[in-house]
Amino acid sequence: MRDVVIVGGGPVGTMLACMLAMRGLDVQVLEQRTEPSMRSRAIGIHPPLLGVLDEIGVGREIVRRGTHVQEGSVHCDGRGLGTLSFAELPTRYPFIVTLPQHVTESLLRSRLEQLRPGCLSGGMTVTGIREHPEHVEVLSDTGVTVPARFVVAADGAQSRVRDVMRIGWTALGRPETYLMGDYVDTGTAGDTAMLYFERGGVVESFPLPDGLRRWVAMTDFLAGEATSGDLAEIIRHRTGAAVGDPRSVASAFAVRQHLAARLSAGRVALVGDAGHQISPIGGQGMNLGWLDAAALAPAIDHGLAEPRQAESALGAYGRRRRRAAVMAARQAGFNMTMGRPATGLRLRARNTLVRALACPPADALLARAFTMRWL
Ligand SMILES: Cc1cc2nc3c(=O)[nH]c(=O)nc-3n(C[C@H](O)[C@H](O)[C@H](O)COP(=O)(O)OP(=O)(O)OC[C@H]3O[C@@H](n4cnc5c(N)ncnc54)[C@H](O)[C@@H]3O)c2cc1C
Repeated sequence: MRDVVIVGGGPVGTMLACMLAMRGLDVQVLEQRTEPSMRSRAIGIHPPLLGVLDEIGVGREIVRRGTHVQEGSVHCDGRGLGTLSFAELPTRYPFIVTLPQHVTESLLRSRLEQLRPGCLSGGMTVTGIREHPEHVEVLSDTGVTVPARFVVAADGAQSRVRDVMRIGWTALGRPETYLMGDYVDTGTAGDTAMLYFERGGVVESFPLPDGLRRWVAMTDFLAGEATSGDLAEIIRHRTGAAVGDPRSVASAFAVRQHLAARLSAGRVALVGDAGHQISPIGGQGMNLGWLDAAALAPAIDHGLAEPRQAESALGAYGRRRRRAAVMAARQAGFNMTMGRPATGLRLRARNTLVRALACPPADALLARAFTMRWL
């Protein structure tokens, strides 16, 4: 009987496993993949999470390897609308670190292996859950059944655990499509994040380690066939900026936010994308999942120490983190709305709003929101 089985060894499941292992719990992670995913996804790591990563022993390495973004600058029609600085934030890390998700995941996996060797089992796809009064059994495609006091679904937006637990999954807002690619950084923007709110739709760019820059542009449709040259042309056409040589293939993605009806059911808890899919525009999905993990670890510890309070501890976790997810989804929804194509009156109103938000006192609140200090 394990204390905890975590389904999914992505960034959120692995971080939670590190936290539980540091509390001396017997934790196992079941992961369907046998090789790490190299997909281009999250890059932004926000200040509160750098503190949490420090506590599990990987923060310093992430800060050392990542690029430090100290401000974001908003532009339209070749003019600056405002700059948001993170430098005055009351935190040990007054910046957002950018680091490719696969590097972050690999640092977390190595740390987990130090803390609890062999606890991540690859090549195991979870297919079902069987609930009992005082424990849960996790069923896998290999025929192995693992019993545990608690089960955590960290199996991403398509969560199998969420489905078998019959927990609802509601779409929020309308879907939007983007094109993304990494290019050699021409250096004109330094380590500043650039947001271009243009008539044809938003373009964003962020510095990355190793002299690269990630560019993301909103598109009218899912441009699955588009090349890095096509993306460079969209960027040039909308913003006038010239990108460097491509260092990745362009990838098209569709965004639709989702929220689970609840983040706990009995002895099963949902964390990360299994519980909430937040738009990458604003870059907070992985960070939000890590905040779930930081809230769930003490709840599980408490539930193990006080078995009669096991389900209520998870219930309290679920209610609190679902409220945070609702706020994050609203904020990301606002970002997506701001980035939509605009002309005429709507464009002027948007630019006026951006200018106002970039001035005191709104700028301090906005810096807090963008660095997740209220989630
Ligand atoms: C283009 C893009 C850019 C993004 N940028 C940012 C950003 O800058 N900042 C940010 O915070 N977030 C960002 N995100 C969001 C971020 O990538 C996700 O929020 C994050 O990956 C969620 O982590 P997770 O561990 O919850 O789920 P996942 O990363 O999806 O991991 C789930 C894991 O579970 C495994 N699994 C699934 N089903 C099973 C099963 N049945 N049995 C066993 N294992 C299973 C999977 O193989 C996977 O390893 C971005 C997303 C995209 C698409």
